Amino acid sequence: MTTVLSFSFNPVAENTFIVFDNETREAIIFDPGCSTPAEEQRLVSAIESRQLKPVQLINTHCHFDHVFGNAFIKDKYGLKLGIHELEAPILEMAPVVVNMYGLPPMTPSPPADYFIAEGDVVTLGSSTFSVLFCPGHSPGSICFYHQEEQYVIAGDVLFAGSIGRTDLPGGDHQTLLGSIMTKLLPLPDETVVWPGHGAATTIGKERRTNPFLT
Ligand SMILES: [Zn+2]
Ligand SMILES: [Zn+2]
Repeated sequence: MTTVLSFSFNPVAENTFIVFDNETREAIIFDPGCSTPAEEQRLVSAIESRQLKPVQLINTHCHFDHVFGNAFIKDKYGLKLGIHELEAPILEMAPVVVNMYGLPPMTPSPPADYFIAEGDVVTLGSSTFSVLFCPGHSPGSICFYHQEEQYVIAGDVLFAGSIGRTDLPGGDHQTLLGSIMTKLLPLPDETVVWPGHGAATTIGKERRTNPFLT
């Protein structure tokens, strides 16, 4: 069994996730958005107090709010960074975008150590996540589906009552709708969606009530 820990970080309230295997204590850190020493410390404390062993660092996509803490986490735990190949240029641009928004400067993320693509399986202890390629919000957005425990780490693809914005470089509304319809909505109703911003929801609830999908 796994446990999902959720944190809200940085000026745009991005959700960072630590997912860990309850037995081995191995952990994947998804989208570390920590942008201040206090936020970094919240992540470190959560890891240390539970005696977790971070084993992977993964970005669902590389908008600045999801990669703010990449350099810190990678360095602190000696992790390899995995992203979708199409996000590499976006990762490189992140510090520039941070400046454009007038936010405090960001320590540039190291480049990816490896690429993740649809069909890959990400292993965590005795668990596996399948990788779903869901472009539209960003060209290389990927979601991580834990079939056995019925949840998906969804990045900025699908939110409670909303969907990802598509006005940023590489975004495309029809592509995003196609990704949601073909990759996420076919998942079972009970599947919990852990989005990149805001509260968790379920596939069934979004299929029935999300105004962008009806
Ligand atoms: Zn985003
Ligand atoms: Zn975001």
